Amino acid sequence: MSFVKALKCKECGEEYPKEPLHVCDICFGPLEADYNYDAIKEALTRDVIEGRDRNIWRYKELLPVDKEPTVGLEVGYTPLIRAENLGKALGVSEIYIKNDAVCYPTLSFKDRVVSVALSKAKEFGFDTAACASTGNLANAVASLTTSGNLKSFIFIPYDLEQAKIVATTVYGSNLIGIKGAYDDVNRLCSEIAGKFGWAFVNINMRPYYAEGSKSFAYEMMEQLGWRAPKHIVVPMASGSLLTKVWKAIKEFQMLGLIENSDTCIYGAQASGCSPITTALKNNWEIFKPVKPKTIAKSLAIGTPADGFYAMGVMNNSGGAGEDVSDPEIVDGIKLLAETEGIFTETAGGVTVAVTKKLIEQGLIPKDESIVVSITGNGLKTQEAIVGDVAQPRIIEARLEEFEELYGSINNNEQGGIKDAVSTHSNTA
Ligand SMILES: *Cc1c(COP(=O)(O)O)cnc(C)c1O
Ligand SMILES: [Zn+2]
Repeated sequence: MSFVKALKCKECGEEYPKEPLHVCDICFGPLEADYNYDAIKEALTRDVIEGRDRNIWRYKELLPVDKEPTVGLEVGYTPLIRAENLGKALGVSEIYIKNDAVCYPTLSFKDRVVSVALSKAKEFGFDTAACASTGNLANAVASLTTSGNLKSFIFIPYDLEQAKIVATTVYGSNLIGIKGAYDDVNRLCSEIAGKFGWAFVNINMRPYYAEGSKSFAYEMMEQLGWRAPKHIVVPMASGSLLTKVWKAIKEFQMLGLIENSDTCIYGAQASGCSPITTALKNNWEIFKPVKPKTIAKSLAIGTPADGFYAMGVMNNSGGAGEDVSDPEIVDGIKLLAETEGIFTETAGGVTVAVTKKLIEQGLIPKDESIVVSITGNGLKTQEAIVGDVAQPRIIEARLEEFEELYGSINNNEQGGIKDAVSTHSNTA
C-alpha cells in the first residue's frame, strides 16, 4: 500500500528514491514526499476515513509510510473546540481552538511528526533515532522511541525549561544539552547525522517527519464538518507546520474531500525571535537569521529551515505574519486559560496574542471562521508565567480561618471567588 512515488526536490523537481535523504544533490533544495494522488483518490473517501480509528493514521494514504505504521498508533485526533468565550473577548463570531495541548502521549503536536518519522525509520531498519530539539520534539522522541523499542540520542540547547528536560530524561533517553542556541544544536546534529548511522527525525528523516504535521489540518477540516476555515493562525519555529497546514488543505481540495475554500494562513512568532514575520512585514525576499531572546523557547529558531516557504504560503494564501512581545505572550496564555479553560505553553500564548493583534488590526475580519492552532501544553513552561498568576491563600486547617478569609474575599476583592459568590446569592 504505497502511495508515495518518490522524494522530489522542492526547487528543481529532481526525483530521489524513498530513502533517508533530505537535500537535493543538484541544487541543495529540500526534498519532499511526492504522492500518487490519482490512486489516493480511489482509495480515500470521507466514508473510509470516518470508519477508521480516531488517530493520525486514519489519513494514512496521505502519510509517507509504505507498510502499516508501527510507532504512535494512538496519536492525534485532538479536540477542535468552538471557543465562544474567547470569541466574545475578541469580538469575533466564529472562532475555534485546535487543541494539541492534549496530544497523546507528550502533550504537543510533535507527537504527530515523530510518529510518522519513527514508523518510517523502522521501515528503513534503523535501531537508533535522534533529534535536534527546542523541547517538545525531545519529549516526543524520548517517549515514542521508548514505546517503539528504538534507542535515542536527543540534543537540546542546555537552558530549556525544567519540565521539558524532565519529560525527556524520565524515559531513560540519552539527553545532551549543548552550550548554545538551537541553531548551534542543529549545526552540530547535521555533522553527527553525517557520521553516525542514525535516523535524525528532523534532519535525514525530515521529508517524512514534516508530513506528519498535515494530520493537524486534516483533523481540523474533518472536525469542521469537511470544510476548511477562512482563517488559520499557526505558530512558526522552522515554519514547517505552517507550510504543511496549507499543503493539507490543497490535498483535501484536490481529492474532493472539501470544497475550495480560499483559506488565509497567518504565521505567529515571538518578537524576540521573529525572522520570518520580520521578513514578511518588510517585504524582504528572504529572512535574516537572528539570535533568539524570548520566553517562547519552543519557537526559538533563528535560522528557520522552512522560513522561505512559510513566507510564500502566507503571501499566496492572502494571510499575514505578526509577532508579539514576551508580556503579550503571557497575556495570551492567560486569556486562553481564563476564557476557555485551556492551559497552553508559550507557543500557544504567541498564537493567541497574534490572533488578537490581527483581529484588532482588521486583518482578520470579525464575522468569518477562524481556527487558532494550539500546539503545546502550559504545564511544560510554568517558568514563563509563575510570577504572573495568583498564589494560593494559605490558612490553618480551621473552619474559622476559612470563614474569615471567605469574608474578606467576599468584601474586599475582585476576582473569581467573589463573582461566584455574588452569582450564587442572586439566584438563591
Ligand atoms: C515545534 C513547535 C512549533 C513549530 O514547529 P515548526 O514546524 O518548526 O514551525 C509550534 N509549536 C510548538 C509547541 C512546537 O513545539
Ligand atoms: Zn534540486
